[in-house]
Amino acid sequence: MTSSATARPTPDDAAQGQRRIPSVERLVGGASEEVLAAYGRTAFTAAVRAVLAEIRAEGGTVPDAAAIREAAARSLASERRPSLRPVFNLTGTVLHTNLGRALLPRSAAEAVAAVMVQASNLEFDLATGARGERDDHVEGLICRLTGAEAAVVVNNNAAAVLLVLNALAMRREVVVSRGELVEIGGSFRVPDVMARAGCRLREVGTTNRTHLRDFAEALGPRTGLVMKVHPSNYAITGFTAEADPIALHALCREHGVPLAEDLGSGSLVDLSAYGLPPEPTVRAALARADVVTFSGDKLLGAVQCGIVAGRRDLIARVRKNPLKRALRVDKMTYAALEAVLRLYLHPERLTEELPTLRLLTRPRAAIDAQARAIAPAVADLVSGWATVSVGDCISQIGSGALPVETLPSAALVLAPEGEGGRRGAGGRCKRLAERLRGLPVPVIGRISGDAIVLDLRTLEDEAGFLDSLSNLSSPGVATPDRRGC
Ligand SMILES: *Cc1c(COP(=O)(O)O)cnc(C)c1O
Repeated sequence: MTSSATARPTPDDAAQGQRRIPSVERLVGGASEEVLAAYGRTAFTAAVRAVLAEIRAEGGTVPDAAAIREAAARSLASERRPSLRPVFNLTGTVLHTNLGRALLPRSAAEAVAAVMVQASNLEFDLATGARGERDDHVEGLICRLTGAEAAVVVNNNAAAVLLVLNALAMRREVVVSRGELVEIGGSFRVPDVMARAGCRLREVGTTNRTHLRDFAEALGPRTGLVMKVHPSNYAITGFTAEADPIALHALCREHGVPLAEDLGSGSLVDLSAYGLPPEPTVRAALARADVVTFSGDKLLGAVQCGIVAGRRDLIARVRKNPLKRALRVDKMTYAALEAVLRLYLHPERLTEELPTLRLLTRPRAAIDAQARAIAPAVADLVSGWATVSVGDCISQIGSGALPVETLPSAALVLAPEGEGGRRGAGGRCKRLAERLRGLPVPVIGRISGDAIVLDLRTLEDEAGFLDSLSNLSSPGVATPDRRGC
């Protein structure tokens, strides 16, 4: 019910012979077959009762029967709408953690669906009929693509780091450079994870400079592990130094201490071959570390998971650790991960087949052309709200990869129109952003100054976007019923 219905009735309203509240039976009986089939008689009856209760409580004019049925159907529709649903990520951040990170290729989504609706050989060896190991479905592929001897998969990279620390260095010291004691998005802080894994942190060097001798002095009988952490979302520049990785690896070997590297994003291919800024590959990291941990849904472009890859003896200890059972992943994850890893076997087609790479490598000119092509249609759909122009913008890879590198892109810039001058524009901008979030498939952009910027780097489904936008009502019309939200 809209707020206008909350006005108290005047004696006049009552005198004009208030319409009597219709009976539930009549309201349900007169409902269309379509509505009853969609929601079922029971749910529709309950919704009608709820609307009637509201009408009685508000005490305003009684709407006619059709309006009551419509309100009931509307509240059922909004109740039925899934909480987790697709949106258009036009923020310019390709791997947006809050918007679900990497997009799966269709083939991977189909592989997931196939094992979801039917039994699978998740832990069953089809050759022998004996029990199998779930990591077997992807371990060979990971090894082939990274040069690792063995690999395990867990819930996410945070879990991978926790597991490696606990399996290889519980109750022992883990030596880390001070410059790498980072916090990555909210709750992942290297020192905290170490404490939870039961390890003692041994910091060496300074924030900007750490030398090989710092590690040499710290290594001793209490050392369980040396860890390197990719600083991901920040960069130290200027007067800096880090220990030569190859020399550090040799030092660790001399002491019989494993060296782990948390790569974070961990690309499987050399991004510079695609014209993107370079990011350390897992293969390169394994040349200077014994185990490497990385995410499945960052640059790799698959699903949320964490991968530990490296030396066979160390991976065996990781796999045997009881935490592995607690951190293991579902068949859906293996199905999606396997399908994506298979795409890497055909690198020539990767920029077409793998959405993350396809979006990251889109040339600015193509995005600009797309923006110009759809600007008139978008201008029509947002008329009354904003004027539309095409502008330059900068996309980001996101998820901590390459924090200082950016990608030139093009955007639709929605500048609010209407009365109220600049201050009014800010409010209109916020209201338009809210309406865009309220669309059937919400459109998420970013507010820059007094405009909404929609970076089109990540827009592939143009028809779907325009279709969702066509549900934008004009500024004067009230926000649709939001009960059930
Ligand atoms: C992103 C990141 C993590 C956490 O990975 P999740 O997959 O989000 O759990 C850990 N370490 C580094 C260096 C990262 O960049």
